[in-house]
Amino acid sequence: MYTNSNKIKRIALLTSGGDAPGMNAAIRAIVRTGIYNNLEVVGIKNGFSGLLKKDFVEMKSNSVSKIISRGGTILKSARCKEFKLKETREKAFANLREMGIDALIVNGGDGSFRGADLLSKEFGFPVIGIPCTIDNDIYGTDFTIGFDTAINTVIEAVDKIRDTAESHNIIFFVEVMGRDSGFIALYTSIASGAEATLLPEVKTDIKQICSYMEQERRANKTSGIIIVAEGDKEGGATEIARKVKEQLPEYETRVTILGHIQRGGNPSCKDRVLASILGHGAVTALLEGKQGVMVGMAHNRTVYTPLEETYLKHDQIDHNWIEVSKIISL
Ligand code: ADP
Repeated sequence: MYTNSNKIKRIALLTSGGDAPGMNAAIRAIVRTGIYNNLEVVGIKNGFSGLLKKDFVEMKSNSVSKIISRGGTILKSARCKEFKLKETREKAFANLREMGIDALIVNGGDGSFRGADLLSKEFGFPVIGIPCTIDNDIYGTDFTIGFDTAINTVIEAVDKIRDTAESHNIIFFVEVMGRDSGFIALYTSIASGAEATLLPEVKTDIKQICSYMEQERRANKTSGIIIVAEGDKEGGATEIARKVKEQLPEYETRVTILGHIQRGGNPSCKDRVLASILGHGAVTALLEGKQGVMVGMAHNRTVYTPLEETYLKHDQIDHNWIEVSKIISL
């Protein structure tokens, strides 16, 4: 068991799980805030895997020069299934101690926070989480790092697709990311004026989509955009388009799966600011003696939530927004 009898002098950070634009801005803020507070900062490469392989790199102020505008993560990210085993985490803890590290900052999603929470609880080791995922589904923060960039990438693509949809009288089914959560779909649907939105949180009724499309046609609307979250229970965009085509063979339909372009790209201004404030907030939290929490932003204030709550609870979409989206796209 770790006893933090001395002040924190040396901290480590890693990026884990799916990459998200803004992770680099968070890394930069952590390193510079650490150095400002006379801490030594160690970067761990490849998430929890790097922690097991002692893939460590000393971070200096210039190690993070000119990365604020870059997507992805300079520390790289990886998945590490064996971290679910206690003996693996024991090894991780031993490596941290061997390297003289007093605290760890984990940038990732709810999976990474499960691992981080276990490390914190099992060994009493100071761990702070920073929410990085384009899905925006983490409890304890209004927005996650990466979400704003991702939705802007989506609407740019949908605006372009609409040009072809209108020119050729086509109904496009556009699939966006979101296996369990419809935040990306709902936001981008409202912002791009999509004709319909299909989300994992709401049961999709193919008959209803077909009658809606017929109603649109009667109103002389011959093209349209239907945004489908990949985790929709009726299937992804390809499957839904196929089912609709079965009922309405005369309609011209196409499917576009936006895929990984949603995860990359230069982070938006909002994501850079969020990542910078949360990166700074994670280091100051450690210096104040906080541990086992995630730093988030709520109502423009930095807030801290126990790691356990961030993955046991879930941020939910506002179902009224689905109604709003329907009303204003009629
Ligand atoms: P994200 O953090 O983006 O949700 P994952 O769910 O893939 O991504 O989790 C990232 C990593 O976090 C996993 O590869 C694993 O190392 C660790 N992890 C995930 N779930 C657990 C768990 N239940 N216990 C311990 N570690 C976990």
